[in-house]
Amino acid sequence: MPMHLEDLQTPCLVLDRRILERNLARMSERMHRLGVSLRPHLKTAKSAEVARMAVAGESGGITVSTLAEAEYFADHGFRDILVAASQPPQKLDRASALLDRGVDLALITDDTDAARAIAAHRGRFKVLIELDSGDRRAGVRAEGDVLLEIARILGDRFAGVMTHAGHSYGCRDIECVRQVAANERATVVSAAERLSSNGIECGVVSVGSTPTMTHADNLDGVTEARPGVYMFQDLFQAEIGSCSRDDIAVTVLASVIGRNELENRFLLDAGALALSKDRSTQATPHDAGYGEVWDTECKPAYGDCRIERAYQEHGVAVSDSPIDFRRIAVGTKVRVAPNHACITAAAYDRYYVVDGGTEIIAEWDRVNGW
Ligand code: PLP
Repeated sequence: MPMHLEDLQTPCLVLDRRILERNLARMSERMHRLGVSLRPHLKTAKSAEVARMAVAGESGGITVSTLAEAEYFADHGFRDILVAASQPPQKLDRASALLDRGVDLALITDDTDAARAIAAHRGRFKVLIELDSGDRRAGVRAEGDVLLEIARILGDRFAGVMTHAGHSYGCRDIECVRQVAANERATVVSAAERLSSNGIECGVVSVGSTPTMTHADNLDGVTEARPGVYMFQDLFQAEIGSCSRDDIAVTVLASVIGRNELENRFLLDAGALALSKDRSTQATPHDAGYGEVWDTECKPAYGDCRIERAYQEHGVAVSDSPIDFRRIAVGTKVRVAPNHACITAAAYDRYYVVDGGTEIIAEWDRVNGW
């Protein structure tokens, strides 16, 4: 007997393979057209099944953000892994165990002491220097002296430069994203040129965020791109123009556990832990609260229904128009589209996979933790 969404215990995480495939194909095609190789970031999906689909037709390299992810993907046969978040020196032994297993592991750094620790370690890591292209989270300046200093400290472990234009998330129109993408590219390319003119060859020139890789029109001089959220998309990406709501591949399946017709609201068994407390759409034209409520076929069947309040295990769903309570019996299942797919998915250890409909065609695991 095939299983359907109706048969699942809630809350749980649902992934639509058909939408995922479409999102993957669109980004791959775009990166091929712009002449860069796609090194998909698996920090969103954290799943070997998704990773295999994402690298189909690509070089096979992936990006991760934790050593737990690197270990999990190594266990599943991936051999070319970039850990694109700086690691404390205390984790170098653990990272080098992956080298011992034959993984081609690259680390990143933006710090001279960290570079010294890496250079002194027995593990022969490849290392990319992180540049700040405007996000002000991490990274050295492309025009500063520290860039050359770190490259010299790293010696033959130096492999290239990378940046992540996280500030593209602050854009509210596509022109702004294009401008951020142009700066992202200019930052890494100018750093690579400076290194080269100082006799230091820069093999890898790496950029990537979902908004910038969706809208960049020129990636000359860049060798690889590392978008991640594009696989699943989410309400925030839809609001800033990276996708439409139809491209959202991951939703939380929840059940109605209470109703208040008088106050035009109902209660779901998905609260802050199941949905996350991400409120990123608050700063966009359509504030979706803690997520938008769709029916099990992903139709916005309850008007503009959204989770207005999230308690640990309760989500309060409201709408500006009258809710049709004949369709909201206690036990009714709904799908909640997430504001930020990466953060919402982090509560779950597996995906229930559908293929456009409501039948469960597979269960795929995911890795969490650090
Ligand atoms: N590269 C790095 C270093 C990142 O931190 C991230 C995301 O945080 C990405 C790439 C992927 O970007 P996005 O999440 O916009 O797809």
